[in-house]
Amino acid sequence: MASGDRVMSRLADLLFPPKCACCGELLEFNGFFGSKSAQKDALCQACRLVWEKEKETQCNLCGEKVANCACSTRMMNSAGCRVHCKLVYYRPGNRETVGNRVIYRIKDHADRRTVRFLADALAPGILANMERQEWKGKSFFISWLPRRSGAVLKSGTDQAKELAVLLAKRLELPLLPLIGRRRKSQTPQKFLTPTARLSNATGAFYLREKRKEEAKGKVAVLVDDIVTSGASMTAGVRLLRRAGAKGFLAVSVASDECNRNPVLPAFSKSEI
Ligand SMILES: [Zn+2]
Ligand SMILES: [Zn+2]
Repeated sequence: MASGDRVMSRLADLLFPPKCACCGELLEFNGFFGSKSAQKDALCQACRLVWEKEKETQCNLCGEKVANCACSTRMMNSAGCRVHCKLVYYRPGNRETVGNRVIYRIKDHADRRTVRFLADALAPGILANMERQEWKGKSFFISWLPRRSGAVLKSGTDQAKELAVLLAKRLELPLLPLIGRRRKSQTPQKFLTPTARLSNATGAFYLREKRKEEAKGKVAVLVDDIVTSGASMTAGVRLLRRAGAKGFLAVSVASDECNRNPVLPAFSKSEI
């Protein structure tokens, strides 16, 4: 963070003391010049412990902890996006997990501190996957799936964009706003079956022509907040492929729990 940004963010902390993104408890104040790590935390100590445990939930497909698992959903896989970095699983309707509550927090509020915390947590896994053999010598760029404009107006934030902006800074990658979202009203994905989700997402997003040349031959790091069936990611991957992108690394804060455990019912009624 540039020093000017740092001063501004510390002043903001003084005026609006930061609260835990999960339980709302006031975070410990470490003074204007307090430790850097304390100023980056978005969770109180108790929630942080649970969050770290949630990051260790095992993926039944690869056996890794979720925060280290790169498994993609079936739909994303068939679109050629085989790498998906995430931090936790969520189960729609279960509002009590820290992961779920953090997601609701960044969806409902423009909470830069929490998004920064999530970007910091995601960056190492993305960097590790960028080192894959198949991408040796390739250039990367970051793009994101924009939120519905009505939802942006209501909440005052587009959390996927915020996350993408911070990740681009952290990873020192160019940020290309290549995906647009049509204004026409759409049925929210949560009410649809996976197949209907894909056709809905395909109609919702379009490729923005400006700067699309910059995607040619590069690997796209495509950011969203959550992945359920992977329909939106799949629609995004198809568009970026049209722009000439040659590889895809999906990034989201959370993935639906059914993506690690085929026994769970797929995409049951979502409240997200
Ligand atoms: Zn808390
Ligand atoms: Zn896995």
